[in-house]
Amino acid sequence: MSGKSKNLDAMEKNLETSFAIEAENLQKSYGELRAVDGVSFDVRYGEAFGLLGPNGAGKSTMMRMIYCRTPLTAGSLRVVGLDVTKDPRAIKARVGVVPQENNFDPDLNVRDNLLVYARYFRIPRPDAEQRADELIAFAGLQDKRHVRIDELSGGMKRRLMIARALLNDPTILILDEPTTGLDPHVRYALWEKLRELRGKGLTILLSTHYMDEAEKLCDRLLIVDQGKILVRGTPRQLIEEHARHFALEARGCNGRPLHDHIPHVIAERRGSTHFYFAASSEELAPLLHHYEDCETYLRPSNLEDVFLRLTDRNSLT
Ligand code: ADP
Repeated sequence: MSGKSKNLDAMEKNLETSFAIEAENLQKSYGELRAVDGVSFDVRYGEAFGLLGPNGAGKSTMMRMIYCRTPLTAGSLRVVGLDVTKDPRAIKARVGVVPQENNFDPDLNVRDNLLVYARYFRIPRPDAEQRADELIAFAGLQDKRHVRIDELSGGMKRRLMIARALLNDPTILILDEPTTGLDPHVRYALWEKLRELRGKGLTILLSTHYMDEAEKLCDRLLIVDQGKILVRGTPRQLIEEHARHFALEARGCNGRPLHDHIPHVIAERRGSTHFYFAASSEELAPLLHHYEDCETYLRPSNLEDVFLRLTDRNSLT
């Protein structure tokens, strides 16, 4: 079957399934270790979907199975309506991948890196050149077209990685910790780029350790740990469900008891800091009085609160 008709076939199936990614009881074992331990989830076309979890939770392994780099141990996984065990080539043609580490050819300049990569997808040279130039402009690297990779800043390299992942005009863009190690300005600029892509209808799957990134970018997300899904939902839903609306932090309260019997208030200790979560700031107000000789901080709850509550490893207590 030709590439063209295979793509059409895939598109027809997409319409039937209407999910960009469908995982059912997905498993991956490395010897005795269950890196991914029976996860089921769907990603809709056009949504930005996040995978959160502590190191070693299984996020990269899930992604590698989705982009057909790692075979499944068990379960089923469909990407753009196709079975990863049957149609890996057609799936790879529809997916763009930004791995954790930049893996450019250091001997080539910016433009040539894109042109060489375009060969993997058998994009004819004139089309590849046009696409490369468009994507270099998208990445804001017009002035750097003929510059060697090692002369780019960290942020420029990440933008170029995203540009490279878009060469084959993918349906799904998969990004494994896209902004790790970048300064806040660069992260902000990358989020703008990802929002722009999502606005154009691209489906985005990303893993991140930055809770603000997940909260700002993701329509829905999973928090995974030890290969299993702990919770799923929109950032807002997860915050309301697991950290209410407001948080009070009282720092440096060694020796004080935690007030863990206040109705409707979640109380938690993390090292010498006490945390309280409630639906309204009024419910937390009496505690401010109690902690008046400690450092206190009343603020809206956030996704980091959810993450820390659900993936508690007791590492700080
Ligand atoms: P995360 O991306 O959430 O940090 P990973 O998917 O990289 O987690 O890893 C999940 C678990 O699988 C970890 O315990 C890791 O050590 C293990 N693992 C990942 N890849 C391999 C591999 N190729 N061989 C053996 N173990 C692996």
